[in-house]
Amino acid sequence: AKGQGKGRQVAYTAAMDQRTAEQSRLAADLRIALDTEQLYLLYQPIVAIPSGELYGVEALVRWTHPERGPVGPAVFIPAAERTGLIVPLGAWILQEACEQAVRWLEELGDAAPRTVTVNVSARQLREAGFAGEVEAVLRRTGLPAYVLTVEVTETAVFDGGTALTELHAIAALGVNIALDDFGTGHSSLGLLRTCPADILKVDKSFVDDITEGGQNAVVVAALIGICDGLQLRAVAEGVETAEQAAELVRLGYRYAQGYHYARPLPAGQVAAYRPPDAAV
Ligand code: C2E
Ligand code: CA
Ligand code: CA
Ligand code: CA
Repeated sequence: AKGQGKGRQVAYTAAMDQRTAEQSRLAADLRIALDTEQLYLLYQPIVAIPSGELYGVEALVRWTHPERGPVGPAVFIPAAERTGLIVPLGAWILQEACEQAVRWLEELGDAAPRTVTVNVSARQLREAGFAGEVEAVLRRTGLPAYVLTVEVTETAVFDGGTALTELHAIAALGVNIALDDFGTGHSSLGLLRTCPADILKVDKSFVDDITEGGQNAVVVAALIGICDGLQLRAVAEGVETAEQAAELVRLGYRYAQGYHYARPLPAGQVAAYRPPDAAV
C-alpha cells in the first residue's frame, strides 16, 4: 500500500508539472496573441425584464489560437492571472471595450447599450494605480464614466490590500461597479456595505434551478430583497429558459442575462438584437 501511495504521488507530481508546463506554453502563446490580433471581444446583451429589451452588454474575451483553434477564457484567463499577463491583457480589453462603447454611442445614439461591462480580475485590481488606468482610458476614448461598468468578483475584493481602495477610486470617477458571481465566493453581506457596488450579478448556479423549487430559489428570492433594500441593481445570470425568466420576473427581478436572450455577440450584431418571442 505504501509503494502504491508513493507511485500515486509521483504520478500526481508529474501531472502537476505537465499542467504547469501547459500553462507556461499557453501564457507564452498568449503573449504573442496580444500582439497579433488573435484576441477579440464578444458582447453579451444584458436585458431589462419582462420586456427583454437591450439594457447593456458584458464584454467577454475570445482567443483563436493559430493551431489549437478557439481557447476559452475559462482556460486562458487563469493562466494569464498566474503569469501576470492579465495586466497587459486586461488593459487591452478595457481599452478595446471603451473604444467600442464610444462607437456605439456615435452610431446608435439612444439605442446604444446604456452600459458596457468589463470584467476585471483580482490581479488587475491589486495593481497600484489601476483606478488611474481606468481614468486614463476614459480620457483617451472620451467615454462618459457612467457608461462603463467594472465587474469584479467578491473574491477579488476580499483579496485585501489595495483592492477596495482602487474600487472606491473607480467608483468616485462615476464608473459603475458590479459584483460578479455573487454568492459563489466567500461572499458576505458585510461586503455590500464596504464595497461601493451598484450592481449585483446573481450567479447562474442559483438561477439554474429556480423553476425546480430547490433551495437556490430561496437564495434568488432573498437576494432581490437585499438588492432592493440597498438600492443595488440585481442582474440574474445564465438565464436559459422562458420559465426561469418568468420566475425571475415574479420574484421582482428587472435585469437578466443568458442564452434565453442572447449568446455573446460580435460588436456588429448588438444593434440587431431583438427580444425573444417568449421574452416574458
Ligand atoms: P463570467 O464573467 O461569469 O461570464 C459569464 C460566462 O457565462 C461567459 O462565459 C458567458 O458566455 C457564459 N454564459 C452567459 N449566459 C449563459 C447561459 O445562459 N448559459 C451558460 N451555460 N453560460 C452562459 P465565457 O465567455 O466563456 O467566460 C467565462 C469566464 O471567463 C467569465 O465568467 C469570466 O470569469 C472570464 N472572462 C471572460 N472574459 C473575460 C475578460 O475579458 N476579462 C476577465 N478578467 N475575465 C474574463
Ligand atoms: Ca462577468
Ligand atoms: Ca458571472
Ligand atoms: Ca462565472
